[in-house]
Amino acid sequence: MIPYGRQYIDDADKKAVNEVLGSDFLTQGEQVTGFEKDLCDYTGAKYCTAVNSATSALICAYKALGFGAGDILWTTPNTFVATSNSALLLGGSAHFIDIDLSTGNMSIEELEKELLQARENQTLPKIVCMVHYSGLSCDMKRVWELSKEYGFKLVEDASHAVGAVYNGSVVGSCEYSDACVFSFHPVKIMTTGEGGAVLTNSEEVYHLSQLACSHGVTKDKKFFKGSNTEPWYYEQIDIGYNFRMTDIHAVLGRSQLKKIEDFLKRRKELALRYEEAFKNLPLEITKVSSTNQSAWHLYPIRIRSDKASKKRLELFSILREASIYAQVHYIPVYNQPYYKNLGFQTGMCKNAEAFYDATLSLPMYYSLSNEEQDYVIKNVVDFFQ
Ligand SMILES: *Cc1c(COP(=O)(O)O)cnc(C)c1O
Repeated sequence: MIPYGRQYIDDADKKAVNEVLGSDFLTQGEQVTGFEKDLCDYTGAKYCTAVNSATSALICAYKALGFGAGDILWTTPNTFVATSNSALLLGGSAHFIDIDLSTGNMSIEELEKELLQARENQTLPKIVCMVHYSGLSCDMKRVWELSKEYGFKLVEDASHAVGAVYNGSVVGSCEYSDACVFSFHPVKIMTTGEGGAVLTNSEEVYHLSQLACSHGVTKDKKFFKGSNTEPWYYEQIDIGYNFRMTDIHAVLGRSQLKKIEDFLKRRKELALRYEEAFKNLPLEITKVSSTNQSAWHLYPIRIRSDKASKKRLELFSILREASIYAQVHYIPVYNQPYYKNLGFQTGMCKNAEAFYDATLSLPMYYSLSNEEQDYVIKNVVDFFQ
């Protein structure tokens, strides 16, 4: 069976996890703070909060940026449901901006148009969350300028984009955002089993993320409201969750991060091999400009045909029979029954719907061998010929 994505775990990873299992601390030891520091060193961000999933990281980031009841989040419909669910869980609402067909990322022209309109209607978002679909960064510099002009906070959901490069800097540097979120789910670029992180350059956002992920409790004297000095003293100064990462997960993340350049290099190689093999097929594939590098979490192909939806299903089924488990990313979030119940209607984002109808994610992961990829390629090429 060839899945669309999977983890790569080596002996060094197992050894690292085993050592933590034999140590004094399974959680709240030194591995979590160590992993946070490693992620700061890697991305260039000043602060990092490691948590137990990207979903938790999104909730922490939104909450730390002041998002709450009555606030509006804008994001793309071409994402996993967690991006907008996190806003709903905090008591706010979500609105979806259509995508650019060529990248699958939110269309910045569309964003700008809707911002103009929302300013008139006084329905501006508190937060805009940009999702770097498939591992390719959105044009963050432009959105950052819009965030200053319209006064919203800017979050990157970089669940797909650990290790991607935008305009010469590593995604997660937060050069053009208030906070950036990573996912370490096994299908993503690197894994901790389950896990995520919030990166930021703001001390305040960092402090509030730390509180949000651990009951709103602090042991740091400088935040105490009272004047107690007992060595056991702590204070709850906010309300929060238990979203903490364990040391077992964190040490796996530290071990995986050491391999990230190899992971990224191989994914890029696989992407180039697909591109070469498909160049004469009726397919649209993601083009990466010279100043950027995709992390290639996904390898989406979009079928060019007026019967794209039918063809996509046929291709999906043929691959399935050949034990190749391609996937579809994504059903536009607002078409989910839960969102339909909230009043969202099909037709809201035409490009996202057309993209969903025609797109398939082919196998893309570090340990995919050339032979396995050639087998996938052969099946795809045969289908179109
Ligand atoms: C995977 C993913 C998430 C959720 O990540 P978890 O770590 O599983 O919570 C959120 N957003 C996007 C875009 C994702 O791909």
